[in-house]
Amino acid sequence: MAGGYPLLMPNPRRRAKIVATFGPASSDPETIARLLEAGVDVVRLNLSHGAHETHRAIVAAVRAEAERIDRQVPILMDLMGPRFRLGVLPSEGRVLEAGSVVTISEDPDSDLPIEEPEFLDHVKSGERVLIDNGLVELKIESAADRRLTARVIEAGKVSTRKGINLPDSDIPFSISDKDRADIALAVELGIEFLGASYVGSAADVIAVRELSETLGSRIPVVAKLERQRALQSLDEIVEAADVVMVARGDLGVEVPLHQVPVLQKRIVEIGLGLGTPVIVATQMLESMMEHSRPSRAESSDVANAVFDGADALMLSGETAAGKFPVESVRTMVRIMVEAESHENRSREPGHELSPVRPSWTSGRFVTADTVAGAATFAARRLPVKKIVAFSQSGFTARLISRYRPGAEIVMFTADPIVASRSQLVWGVTPVLLDAEPRDHDQVVEMVDRIMTARDLAEPGDLLILLMGAPIKERPLTNLLRIHQVRA
Ligand code: PEP
Repeated sequence: MAGGYPLLMPNPRRRAKIVATFGPASSDPETIARLLEAGVDVVRLNLSHGAHETHRAIVAAVRAEAERIDRQVPILMDLMGPRFRLGVLPSEGRVLEAGSVVTISEDPDSDLPIEEPEFLDHVKSGERVLIDNGLVELKIESAADRRLTARVIEAGKVSTRKGINLPDSDIPFSISDKDRADIALAVELGIEFLGASYVGSAADVIAVRELSETLGSRIPVVAKLERQRALQSLDEIVEAADVVMVARGDLGVEVPLHQVPVLQKRIVEIGLGLGTPVIVATQMLESMMEHSRPSRAESSDVANAVFDGADALMLSGETAAGKFPVESVRTMVRIMVEAESHENRSREPGHELSPVRPSWTSGRFVTADTVAGAATFAARRLPVKKIVAFSQSGFTARLISRYRPGAEIVMFTADPIVASRSQLVWGVTPVLLDAEPRDHDQVVEMVDRIMTARDLAEPGDLLILLMGAPIKERPLTNLLRIHQVRA
């Protein structure tokens, strides 16, 4: 026992978060309640599917349940982005024989009519066209007058509206009319995160965020890393984004599949270095779409994403359209908790964590980061149960999380949207305050009262408090206090 403090058990809570996609299998209020209860931290809506009315209804049901259980549940609206699809084909589909040559154009009578024709001006001879998650592969032989001819390399059957990937083509990022209407909906509904699909550069991420601001409110952007082009400026994109997603579905089509695991690790490392939360997504428990148990490989995949250091793991079809949405979440929780009990990524301040954002390396930012690192160090030396941070913007909580401390991070804030967004950050539990504390003494009084009332601490527990003092000047974090909870 150190310093006369009682020795506390390590925190048993799950630290990495769960993002779950809600869709037809998860749209009724009862299933939504069970999913949140099972452990969903963040709800994702995939705007590639479904009408606005359907999304509105799910948002309303999630908000109602979150209020009922008094928990912040942020919603991520994932934009379709510049997604290309086949147009309408005969109902039996079209079989493409290896070695045959097919035409692709806007003409509904071509072999492969297409729905969003913007790419026709950009693809060149020799480039690949991948259809239906890469199951069918074509190579362009000629491209003129918005009409392509392509040879079938990997044969297969294609059908109406199957997705097209163009991994070799330099297609500029664009925000479609649909994306714009979807962003307007997100602004109207007070959505916490926007997912930006197919971004290729930091400028693309910024364009999406700025459009949301123009349409009424600046919504943080989850940059989906799924294009070859994005990999050329990974650091810049991770720095520009509020959150990034390793979107393994499209990424595994655009880059050779065997590179995806290494890219996942690299992206998580860059995110940790820059303090940008990382979501690992797609096919984590895919077989649970049909079965009540996952495969061994899926179980290992979930655990390995935890070991990599991801902030959040995502379920897609498993919860949106699968037969076992609630069991998928419970299974993911069990695997994560087990993995975390064997994992200690607690980092020494200044050790392993490079680089930090250039904007964080000076003045008050470096002070806040130093205090965050010091809290992690203190939580390792002392039998501390929780690190409690007063955070106006969520920045301090993110800084602490970056160090992956052994102790749980509890973030006190009076801003409901800051509390909600922090649910995506590794190890952070938000507590929404009714009012801002006036001074240091009131902070301590609030901590004792709220932490015990919410069963987050008991009298005698040792906590680390972080805040900016003097409070009325609203400085960034500059103060660390070791505090024993009073009765
Ligand atoms: C992905 O490609 O992995 C992904 C998450 O994007 P979407 O579900 O929109 O295809």
